[in-house]
Amino acid sequence: MQSPHSSTKARKQRTSASRHASAHSSPRLTTELDVRIGVFRQPAMQTPVLVLNASYEPINICGARRALVLVLKGVARTEEEQGSVLHAARMKVAMPSVIRLLEYRRIPHQTRALSRKNILLRDRNACQYCGIVLTAGELTLDHVIPRSRGGLSTWENLVACCHECNRRKGNQLLHELTEMKLQREPRPFSLHTSRHIMRMIGSADPSWRRYLYFESEPELQFVA
Ligand SMILES: [Zn+2]
Repeated sequence: MQSPHSSTKARKQRTSASRHASAHSSPRLTTELDVRIGVFRQPAMQTPVLVLNASYEPINICGARRALVLVLKGVARTEEEQGSVLHAARMKVAMPSVIRLLEYRRIPHQTRALSRKNILLRDRNACQYCGIVLTAGELTLDHVIPRSRGGLSTWENLVACCHECNRRKGNQLLHELTEMKLQREPRPFSLHTSRHIMRMIGSADPSWRRYLYFESEPELQFVA
């Protein structure tokens, strides 16, 4: 039979063990992120880090490795930590989950490069004709005005598209196809859109929330 003393000790150990677990919760967060956003299924150095402007305005997401470089170069400082620590030669660095640039950076209206990945992100992996949500590998890009008819590769003329809709549309213009319609007008990747994506990713990480939810957004382009 246990003495009162030893059971108290055991309880203390349990308490400190659970405290320890909650302070180092990044593995759990990573798991949640994995479920939400498959693209971020990466080891700790690739864990997404929220980047704030000097004004605390969220402006980007980068991988933990890049965030660490910015911090070590003195360009940014860590505002929130992941909970894990990087042990490198002769130093220990707390892995950041939120960093802030020390100098204010002016963000141009459109900051995102036109790429297949960003078009799919903007369209949230949904075929813009039938609305079906697929993996990136199952989607293609459709030129709304076909290239063969003078359509350009621009934010306004490229949309995520499933293979079936892509086949059906072929080289025709939309007004020639009564049964096919764009679900929304394609636009450049706006800061609103990227902020929405930051929220989707950041909703798994409580330390991001205070930076992502403080403002009102009356004209959000895409409804959640
Ligand atoms: Zn489709």
